[in-house]
Amino acid sequence: MKTVGILGGGQLARMMILAGAPLGLRFRIYDPSPEACAGQLAPLVTGQFDDLAALQAFAASVDVITFDFENVPAASVAALSALRPVFPNAGALAVAQDRLSEKQLFQALGIALPAFADIDSLATLQARVAEFGMPCILKTRRLGYDGKGQFRIRSQADIGAAWQALGAQVDAVGLILEGFVDFDCELSVVAARNAAGQFVAWPVTRNWHVDGVLSASLAPCGLPAAVQERAVAHARAVAEHLDYVGVFALELFHCDGTLLVNEMAPRVHNSGHWTGDGAQTSQFANHLRAGLGLPLGDTAVLGVACMLNWLGQMPEAAPVLAQAAGFWHDYGKQPRAGRKVGHANFRTDDAPAMARALQQVGQALGREAQVAPLLDALSVA
Ligand code: AMP
Repeated sequence: MKTVGILGGGQLARMMILAGAPLGLRFRIYDPSPEACAGQLAPLVTGQFDDLAALQAFAASVDVITFDFENVPAASVAALSALRPVFPNAGALAVAQDRLSEKQLFQALGIALPAFADIDSLATLQARVAEFGMPCILKTRRLGYDGKGQFRIRSQADIGAAWQALGAQVDAVGLILEGFVDFDCELSVVAARNAAGQFVAWPVTRNWHVDGVLSASLAPCGLPAAVQERAVAHARAVAEHLDYVGVFALELFHCDGTLLVNEMAPRVHNSGHWTGDGAQTSQFANHLRAGLGLPLGDTAVLGVACMLNWLGQMPEAAPVLAQAAGFWHDYGKQPRAGRKVGHANFRTDDAPAMARALQQVGQALGREAQVAPLLDALSVA
């Protein structure tokens, strides 16, 4: 029986554990916080991600290592890789940890993306804003997530304000300026690759964000097959270039038939949570299969599937549980403003049945605004 070590003990680790039990796997979790929610399901070792001695002791207690948190320092990943197989590999993590290097990779692979520039001073920022035009977005290169570490520049006055907000971090995490994309919709490709080179992708997912944080996902996305095939081809090119093993997500903007890649996440992804109940094989199961050298499972969507994220605190469960289509996921976390505390998945045979289920749940929970974009998308599907 193999033991999988997971660096980071949040909801992603928790869902990997749930998916790994039928494979006969055991798990150990490493996280700085004794409260990490995956620790409710598997032994939790507390330690910092730069504590090499503690990480090495953790590695000695497991057979293979993966991540639910991708910002483990490169030196720590290198030390772990010398002791145990680590997936995804250190090189892939390093690229995905830095918005600049991932964009340079997309560019080298011929994948279209928004205008971008490395920013090292206020003068560079001013020059690049003049070049890109407004609006544009200043982001930290490293350690940003869920819209954190980002500043939208809409006016001349915003340039100084953006530098005020993020300039102090330029040496520690780097900064990047991006052209603003007036997208029709946001998409993601969640895909998996194993060491034998088998590559699979779930149907392209359509995503809605509120304040930079994922609010809802829907699959299939309803866009023409040719667009979806192009998105998946981009994901495949990235995975093959990085010799990637495991699940990752490629986030894209769709504008009038054009696809622009935003970023990649080197791990199971929030926009793939629907696969837990709405696909033949979940992203969590395929991530583990990939890392253990097993064949990857079928990624077909079972009809129509969607996900609603619960932020801050869990809503009442009954209206979701009362639906034949509904699946409830409570991460066992303490409520906190903006925190991802759970989600609901829905799976139906067709779009009208999904619309009915979502309408009822939206009304019962007072979340009409959260389900409204899904209802719109389903009515044209
Ligand atoms: P990110 O952390 O880069 O995934 O950004 C979070 C969200 O902010 C994205 O999902 C988009 O909704 C929005 N966003 C980020 N970058 C851009 C951009 N260049 N143009 C338009 N919207 C963006």
